[in-house]
Amino acid sequence: MQGIWMQRLLKLYQKYAQFIRGRYGRWDQLNKVMVITGLVVSIFSRWISYYIGDLLAVILVGFALYRFLSKRIYPRSNENQKFLQLVTKIRQRDFKLDRTYRHFKCPSCKQKMRAPRGKGKIKVTCKNCHTQFIKKV
Ligand SMILES: [Zn+2]
Repeated sequence: MQGIWMQRLLKLYQKYAQFIRGRYGRWDQLNKVMVITGLVVSIFSRWISYYIGDLLAVILVGFALYRFLSKRIYPRSNENQKFLQLVTKIRQRDFKLDRTYRHFKCPSCKQKMRAPRGKGKIKVTCKNCHTQFIKKV
């Protein structure tokens, strides 16, 4: 009995290998992000009106599948590289921003603000509600 199942599994795997041969067939970072985002969006889609959530989820997962099954391997690989470069760029920019500025909120109206780091205690005036307060940066 076990032998038959093994054979069947092997055949199925061979079929899959044949099907995937010459295709991109990779769950690269871009595909993973799209599928995960798609799943998250589909979970929250009930709170998003007009089927936008469902549509977005279908598009994201559909595009990931399309990339997975695509026979044009190099363009797909390039897409992933570009995606990774973009992520690195965004991360670096965030890192720089965080090092040069300190972000905080106005205690009275919660307006987001930033001030250069390392200036010690500064007097801040909120642009939104003109509340004044002391902040250590
Ligand atoms: Zn304020």
